[in-house]
Amino acid sequence: MSRFFSPDLAGLVPYTPGEQPRDKQYIKLNTNESPFPPSPGVIAALHRGETEKLNLYSSPTAADLTEAIARRYAVPPDHVFAGNGSDEVLAFAFHAFGSAGVSAPDLSYGFYPVFAAFFGLPFYPVPVDECLRIDPDQFVRAKGMVVLANPNAQTGLYLTPAKIETIVRANPDRVVLVDEAYIDFGGESVVPLTKRYDHLLVVQTFSKSRNLAGARIGFAIGHPALIADLNTLKFSFNPYNLNRLSILAGKAAMEDEAYFRRCTEAVIRTREDTTAQLARLGFTCTDSRANFILAQHPRIHGKALYQKLKERGVLVRYLGETETRIDRHVRITVGAREQMDILLAQIAEILQEADL
Ligand SMILES: *Cc1c(COP(=O)(O)O)cnc(C)c1O
Repeated sequence: MSRFFSPDLAGLVPYTPGEQPRDKQYIKLNTNESPFPPSPGVIAALHRGETEKLNLYSSPTAADLTEAIARRYAVPPDHVFAGNGSDEVLAFAFHAFGSAGVSAPDLSYGFYPVFAAFFGLPFYPVPVDECLRIDPDQFVRAKGMVVLANPNAQTGLYLTPAKIETIVRANPDRVVLVDEAYIDFGGESVVPLTKRYDHLLVVQTFSKSRNLAGARIGFAIGHPALIADLNTLKFSFNPYNLNRLSILAGKAAMEDEAYFRRCTEAVIRTREDTTAQLARLGFTCTDSRANFILAQHPRIHGKALYQKLKERGVLVRYLGETETRIDRHVRITVGAREQMDILLAQIAEILQEADL
């Protein structure tokens, strides 16, 4: 820390992204990226000469992109806000609506408490139950803004729109933010509810189901007054937050519905098959509706399994260092079929070697 670092920020503990090792090529199943390339429409759009226009600023409203999102979700364009990854959208939302603090499940996306600390907001962890489920009753008259990931991060557990609506109705005077990063892998979005509730903000990302983690595109859909507030912050901070290439890539990805469906359906099928195979090997998995599996084995600790898989060139995520309730688990991104076959073969060998 330098002598100049603001004393208010000295205690900030940054978010730890999944490791991106460069020592060798891993089968990378640790950060919930898509195993599939961007849609052919995205590649074609980027070849169409946009790079020649990089001397000019991008659209400050990312108009082509927000309009494509609006069409896809059947909302007016002024109900849509786009950001440089949904992490940026979340940051703006915390800053805009979190002055009374933030309530979120105590087992969820690790960035939520970090954003709260970044903006000096009180953070109120709401316990998940012994099966790691979010209990909607715990969010009745919550403190401050309510933030939920649905399906939830780390567990993949899913709340139906009816359950989310209960939470929304129980908190009419605070913003309820639903982070739908994983909704396209078998859940139903609550975007339609944003037309009825002016305090519901839905956040999604292109990083998982739209094969564009490296393009950094996220968005929020909500009442135009909420969107206007997010724009007030954005235009006070970084008006051109999305670059030209990402705006075009995002528009093309949003318009290629058939490719999106093929990719998400493949992930869902592979998730179900892999979960069944893991069960055969003795694992218990949460009922994940996301593009990852949270698995535990009665006879091998999460950290040991993570390390043995890494030695064998397969990278999964071990979260037990900070999340003690899932220290026996590993989180496995659902990759391509061939990647999962290698993962399963390696796990079978590890169990056999240790005679487990
Ligand atoms: C991956 C993820 C994000 C971040 O997505 P980006 O758009 O890549 O910033 C946000 N929320 C949750 C729950 C996620 O899993």
